Amino acid sequence: MRFAGLKRKLLCVTLVFSVAAMAQGSPNALPALGDGLEMSTGAERQLGDRIARELYRSTAYVDDAILGDYVEGLWWRLMAAARVRGELTPDMDAQYAWAIMLGRDRSVNAFALPGGYMGVHLGLIASVDDADELASVLAHELSHITQRHIARMISRQGQQAPWMIAAMILGILAAASSPDAAGALIVGGQAASVQGQLNFSRDMEREADRVGYGVMTQAGFNGQGFASMFQKLLQANRHNDTGAFPYLRSHPLTTERIADMQARQQLQAGAAQAKDGDTAVAHAMLAARARVLADTSVDSLRAAVTQAETELSGTITTPLQSSARRAGLLYAAAWAAGELRDPQTAQKMWARLQAVASTQPQSAYQVRLLGAELALSAGEAGRAMALLDQPTAASNHLGVDETKDKKPRAETLLRMRALTMAGQSGAARAAQTLQVWLAERPRDAQAWQLLSAASTAQGQTLRAIRADAEAYASRFDYAAARDRYAAAQDLIKRGTAGNDYIEASIIETRSKQVDALLREQMRER
Ligand SMILES: [Zn+2]
Repeated sequence: MRFAGLKRKLLCVTLVFSVAAMAQGSPNALPALGDGLEMSTGAERQLGDRIARELYRSTAYVDDAILGDYVEGLWWRLMAAARVRGELTPDMDAQYAWAIMLGRDRSVNAFALPGGYMGVHLGLIASVDDADELASVLAHELSHITQRHIARMISRQGQQAPWMIAAMILGILAAASSPDAAGALIVGGQAASVQGQLNFSRDMEREADRVGYGVMTQAGFNGQGFASMFQKLLQANRHNDTGAFPYLRSHPLTTERIADMQARQQLQAGAAQAKDGDTAVAHAMLAARARVLADTSVDSLRAAVTQAETELSGTITTPLQSSARRAGLLYAAAWAAGELRDPQTAQKMWARLQAVASTQPQSAYQVRLLGAELALSAGEAGRAMALLDQPTAASNHLGVDETKDKKPRAETLLRMRALTMAGQSGAARAAQTLQVWLAERPRDAQAWQLLSAASTAQGQTLRAIRADAEAYASRFDYAAARDRYAAAQDLIKRGTAGNDYIEASIIETRSKQVDALLREQMRER
């Protein structure tokens, strides 16, 4: 199952620029679409949960904390702006998931799902030139959510049961990714008719553009990002590059839209702002990370190292190569070398990266996180911790929910890994911190895995197995969770796991709950 399937037919990310509405400058230039909603936000959320459960279990789902922090940081800024503008109501705030799922796919796409879930392909992050372009796509999709376009689209399905709609959406996804899978849920012509019904209307696209543009600029992003994103689509369209930009297939760029865009760019001429060097360099590094993470085959990782070596060899380097470009190449090479278990090359590339990108706070922060990550894969807990402990003025700029007084997730998880690696007392501290973290974020599978490792390091077998089980459960793999719980109960029965009665009773309770969840999951299919 690939994320790719959803974008093609179901929901679009095409930035249909409705120049007329924007040029008039009024948020009310277009009448809001009529209501007539039949689906409550709560019901929509339930439907979204059902679809999301399948996607979280798919191999295409990537939980990368560094990229996750970045995209969520932009997403939260947009959400805050949408609240101020009254687009995001308290009811939606409370009912929707507001969760971003990263998909390991090189194609350029993002799509909104029912219930406030957002899918973002790594290919999108890799191919945008700056945070403004990324924000323009996210704002467009956010507006599909806040304008209840999904609920309206689903209402058009009449009295279809939610499980049927979920099956249709998942069926389209499966059919689009594999011709063999098509028969599983939807057959032949029926699929085509369903896909037609589940497209956004042209009016909805115009509304998502208008509202999205307002939200994006309100959030402090440069509106030029909207225009330059469109230029990208245009270029891909000219080269007929629908493989990399699949949404162009379902949303061809018409002559009218191109003309509209050109008019809009003339209006905006001179409005382009100078790019903040720090933000641009930090973005280039994160885009490079998305690019290598999208394809971690050995050939692709080797190519990332080679590219940096050849392009940045002394003679070829020219002043034309911006520091952002160099930082991106070196970041990709260092990360790839780390994955290739070549710590020497990784360290060499990282040192060169540090020389390019350590003078400004946001870039320096990303360089340190990468350094800590590389140190951990080389087994050097002390060096990782030293890098994480360096004081920073920047952690609040990228990837941090400023509405919560919290450490960013990537930094926290790296710190817990370093502590656990450092020995028993470190592992005890890590376990303590992780328990607090998980009390607030019980769906954080990586944190559960780290807690399992920290418990193992302290010789707490039952706790380690339970945390492992919870890591599976938090990704909705209840069958695997149940197996882990069965293993723990077996150890308890045989009396080989010590006398931790409290732990044994928690395991008993959770095991029953997971059993019930598994039965429910089986009924859903
Ligand atoms: Zn759209």
